[in-house]
Amino acid sequence: MDNLTTTKRSELMSRVRGRDTKPEMTIRRLLHARGWRYRVSVKGLPGTPDIVFSRLKTAIFVNGCFWHGHTCRLGTRPKTREAFWADKIETNKLRDSRKNDELASRGWRVLTVWQCQLSDTDAAISEIEAFLEASKHIPSGVGKNEGTKETKLGI
Ligand SMILES: [Zn+2]
Repeated sequence: MDNLTTTKRSELMSRVRGRDTKPEMTIRRLLHARGWRYRVSVKGLPGTPDIVFSRLKTAIFVNGCFWHGHTCRLGTRPKTREAFWADKIETNKLRDSRKNDELASRGWRVLTVWQCQLSDTDAAISEIEAFLEASKHIPSGVGKNEGTKETKLGI
């Protein structure tokens, strides 16, 4: 039996899905405190990345484990309406991988941070900072798939 009522679950889901979710805010606050400057929810980029470091051409998505189908405890699917949830979550996963590919083809580096990683914020921030530091050493504008194609993203 699913122990959440439908109403409670949809409340929970809408919170998880929205912008400025708690894990995202936590990461933004910690990065800001450590001197990183970024833009948020940048609409000119595929997938509207949550946190964007324009100069480093690096985008971060902070994903809720349930909606984005992470294989962890938080990503456990309800036992009821299994096909319904599987369909929704698989669709989200496909969209995630498509937007990551689009960003990569435009020369962006993409990091996905999972909600469950926030159980250890120090480790999560270290990983993000290591990724950002690595971005500094990669020539900007060089995409994995398209070489040195210029992009006009208005950012
Ligand atoms: Zn997770």
